[in-house]
Amino acid sequence: MARVYNFAAGPAAIPLEVLEAAQKELLEYGSSGQSVMEMSHRSKEYVEIYDRAKASLNKAMGVPEGYSTLLIQGGASLQFSAAPLNLTQEGASAAYADTGNFAHAAIGEAKRYVNVNVIADASNDNYTYVPDIASVPQDAAYCYITTNNTVYGTRFPKLPDTGAVPLVADMSSNILSEEYDVSRFGVIFAGAQKNIGPAGLTVVIVRSDLLGKARAACPKILNWKTMADADSMPNTPATYAIYIAGLCADWLLKQGGVKAIEKINIEKSKLLYNYLDNSKTFSNPVRVDSRSRMNVVFKSHSPELDDRFCKEAAKAGLVNLKGHRAVGGMRASIYNAMPIEGVKALIDFLKKFESGL
Ligand code: PMP
Repeated sequence: MARVYNFAAGPAAIPLEVLEAAQKELLEYGSSGQSVMEMSHRSKEYVEIYDRAKASLNKAMGVPEGYSTLLIQGGASLQFSAAPLNLTQEGASAAYADTGNFAHAAIGEAKRYVNVNVIADASNDNYTYVPDIASVPQDAAYCYITTNNTVYGTRFPKLPDTGAVPLVADMSSNILSEEYDVSRFGVIFAGAQKNIGPAGLTVVIVRSDLLGKARAACPKILNWKTMADADSMPNTPATYAIYIAGLCADWLLKQGGVKAIEKINIEKSKLLYNYLDNSKTFSNPVRVDSRSRMNVVFKSHSPELDDRFCKEAAKAGLVNLKGHRAVGGMRASIYNAMPIEGVKALIDFLKKFESGL
């Protein structure tokens, strides 16, 4: 078996140990005589798997008392609507930071329900940095940020001080990669397919006092309180994705948790940025203080050379390096499951490619 180094932005690499553990239990989980995939979500065996997965995720994230963790479907994109529908009534306003395409899409959805006040906007500079949020209007129902911008390779270097306004964060592409104090947030949500596990699952962490404020028109399965009251099971959850997410969280805890993996993530991204900053062929356009540790974007002098690079890298087992169509060039997504050896292999290949030009 020749496994590649997969630099995809999501769905992304899963730790090999997790895949092996799942493989072992694929046909029969424990002595249940069935696969996890085949279990009723109401069965005793599955409820145990679910409870363990949630407990491991909460432990890894450091979720304090007073928060509910929801394991639901619909992707991070559905939370773009869930946030205004759960947190506001008609006529309210909300503050948004426009720091990338997903933030922009969230603003587009929010505009259907609330008066959007864009308090920081990096669109004019092609989202190559994250603007500072000096102050948040205190009449906003919430303040919305995207902690890591997957496509543009940027990251909030520091969280805004929102005062009494709840901070709502799309943490899809850097959740569990660095330590966050959950108590600073009203709501955190993330699609699972980067650092949590497979696609199909969305994790939403909501402060309890923000539950029960939804509009009457909010669909039941978008209502965080309905979900919290039914422990995310008013309907069928993404059973298998939750099981794998639990294995991934256990794997992360075994590595020393977020604190330990954050150190490795800093080292991995530093190695790559350091190479790019000294390269004569490749460069990264992001302002240094805003650089993502998860998604490193870079380009050569021409789209043709970028294309050739991606093709040759793929042949060498370094796959999915093509940048997002909005940015072009390359993007190396180096989530928790990408070992430092993978980043070193990429740098070695970049050097070899460059020296052969
Ligand atoms: N927000 C961010 C930061 C993302 O990276 C993505 C997906 N890559 C999304 C939202 C959308 O997630 P989903 O596809 O789960 O709806």
